[in-house]
Amino acid sequence: MIEIDPWNPEPVLIARAAAILRKGGLVAFPTETVYGLGADGLDPQAVRKIFQVKGRPQDNPLILHLSAPQEAEELAELDGRARAVMDAFWPGPLTLVLPARPVVPEAVRAGLPTVALRMPDHPVALALVRKTGRPMAGPSANRSGRPSPTDAAAVEADLGERVDLVLDAGSVGIGLESTVIDLTGEKVLLLRPGGMPVERLEKFFSTPLEIPGGSEKKRSPGTRYRHYAPEVPVHIWDMKEELPRALDPAQSAFMGMTSPPFGFARVVLFDSQESYARGVFAAFRRFEAEGIRHIVAEWPDPSGIGLALQDRIQNATSPATFPATIP
Ligand code: AMP
Ligand code: MG
Repeated sequence: MIEIDPWNPEPVLIARAAAILRKGGLVAFPTETVYGLGADGLDPQAVRKIFQVKGRPQDNPLILHLSAPQEAEELAELDGRARAVMDAFWPGPLTLVLPARPVVPEAVRAGLPTVALRMPDHPVALALVRKTGRPMAGPSANRSGRPSPTDAAAVEADLGERVDLVLDAGSVGIGLESTVIDLTGEKVLLLRPGGMPVERLEKFFSTPLEIPGGSEKKRSPGTRYRHYAPEVPVHIWDMKEELPRALDPAQSAFMGMTSPPFGFARVVLFDSQESYARGVFAAFRRFEAEGIRHIVAEWPDPSGIGLALQDRIQNATSPATFPATIP
């Protein structure tokens, strides 16, 4: 693990990391959403290592990270709408699913005819992709199913020796993964809520996004799995009803934006939905380390980042179902 300047990444460190990637190695790197586990996205063997190291199901495809929108041209079939979306929202926490060109390895696509692309808004990620000269496959740098890492220590805790290098640029800004939309059909589908608020997308497209249901769910394989979960059970509380009797507040931690009406063993309060989103995964990990028996999470409002926060909290409690249905 090496520290790197988040705003002006040291060129020698970027060169060292890029050399590892070009040799087929794995480098964990910061983005504005969460830390990613990077590999050369055009090297099938390097990509397969990502799946091994994370314990990621083979049918869950990876996002390719770019350092400029033009790099998308050789990886996907783009139309005017896709280029306009990139123009408006990149760099940023928005991933686009598009028809893949043959150069994209099957392992990246998990066999699908599509590819997911994103240009992250983080100087370290951008410099690394640029220096490597390849699109970078980069799922979150956690063991599959665990809360995503929002700092380098969380990467170390989950993956440690199994990555060749961890670039430590401090804590991330957003704290939840990117929003994923599917642009392969006429309608724009929301595959995963995330860092880019749906309201901004709907304003851009001048229409509500479609939420895939039924058989269309298989379009985003990743949303089928239990995700983002700490080892401590997580419970959702809307704070209107009584706490379920089985939960002893003296052995539980509370997290949310409203002061709870009685004591808990631990209370973590956030002053905005943004800070709740930024802190949720780190809080999960901290409560685990502290030996807390239950985590009680206040159910957030679905506006802005809140929709993604609902999704992650819900997924931490049970097998994933998007849209969230609790309470
Ligand atoms: P992660 O990088 O682990 O946060 O997950 C990436 C997300 O993007 C998962 O939910 C994947 O299922 C989704 N994804 C990646 N590639 C595709 C694709 N080609 N089509 C649909 N969803 C995708
Ligand atoms: Mg992930």
